[in-house]
Amino acid sequence: MDAGAVVFERRKTRQIKVGDVAVGGDAPISIQSMTTTKTADVDGTLAQIYALTGAGCDIVRCTCNDLAAAEGLARIVPRSPIPVIADIHHQYKMALAALEAGVQGLRLNPGNIRKPEHIKAVATEARDRGVPIRIGVNGGSLDPSLYDKYGGRVTPEAMVESAQMEIAYFEDVGFDLIKISVKASNVPLMIEAYRQLSEVTDHPLHLGVTEAGPLPGGYIKATAGIAALLSEGIGDTIRYSLTADPVEEVRAGRTLLESFGLRERKNVDLIACPSCGRAEVDVIAVAEAARDAFADRELPLQIAVMGCVVNGPGEARDADLGIAAGKHRGHLFVKGQNVAVVPEAEMVDTLVEWAEFIAENGTEAALARVDLEKARREAEKDRSELFEEKGADVNASEQRVELIHRRVAD
Ligand code: SF4
Repeated sequence: MDAGAVVFERRKTRQIKVGDVAVGGDAPISIQSMTTTKTADVDGTLAQIYALTGAGCDIVRCTCNDLAAAEGLARIVPRSPIPVIADIHHQYKMALAALEAGVQGLRLNPGNIRKPEHIKAVATEARDRGVPIRIGVNGGSLDPSLYDKYGGRVTPEAMVESAQMEIAYFEDVGFDLIKISVKASNVPLMIEAYRQLSEVTDHPLHLGVTEAGPLPGGYIKATAGIAALLSEGIGDTIRYSLTADPVEEVRAGRTLLESFGLRERKNVDLIACPSCGRAEVDVIAVAEAARDAFADRELPLQIAVMGCVVNGPGEARDADLGIAAGKHRGHLFVKGQNVAVVPEAEMVDTLVEWAEFIAENGTEAALARVDLEKARREAEKDRSELFEEKGADVNASEQRVELIHRRVAD
């Protein structure tokens, strides 16, 4: 089966708009992050928002925890290139202040703003302004009454009930511009909470594993939870909550969505073999150099770094462009066809040069600029010499099989 033909069917949700970004329905799954600056530091926060936007962030959240932060938002929102959501905990008046500041969305934690009249006051104001609210349930800060009801434990049912209670307050004032999250730092708990939530509501869902932590464990925990749900068609917007530069959150989100085919490729998808006894070059070093060389280049291509010319070009034949090592040279291939052989030290520079050419002119033009037959012959020469030197069976498996037979027959 053509891997490109496999698509995860998305669960149908209602659509809302956060500023000019549609969330839910058939809108692309959006990527969110949160600034780590003091929101009162307008220039510092805007610099971070620009960095996040450059990395592919669609929506940004800033804390609104005091008057100075609300004032900061009034100055940040008109200059932000992407919609700004104010994150509210404990003080419902900060939600009203953020609305005055002109934010395009609010996030309320039902676990710490609990008075119905406060919740309804915010929802009424948001309704009148057409500003959406995320009901952000968090396993770590659940309403104590729910905690007690469910036996002193945080359960998926308790988290879903918390969201439903908040929806009911919003419905009382005729407000339905809602998205919902039920995050937890425990991955199985978070997955089950979202599954149950998706059964009882068609409001769009914001996915995340809260407090996933520092890298690399944070990447893995967040991906485990978010990817499991996306593969079931659940989720309309995502955030990686990493203890790292928030730009890393956006890169991780983009990589996940692009690898799932849920967002169009924006950056290079670098694939590389894991290396083995056949490797003719330090694959890890070359792959890392290629990763760094492509980090800031927006080239929507799949590029392969392969350790040997014997297996590399075949295994990476679907890549737009790739290079495989052999006899101290780099064998460059485009869509599986050899196009050039370059000294090993020039492998990464050559990849960059060809990648830029392909991104601008296309694969056909790249293939047309070389003598394909000559390139094929040269590659074949190195390939067959390596076969002769090392044999087709680098792990000597035939001899091992022979020994196994003898041992069993003894
Ligand atoms: S491409 Fe070559 S070096 Fe890399 S894992 Fe495959 S056989 Fe080994």
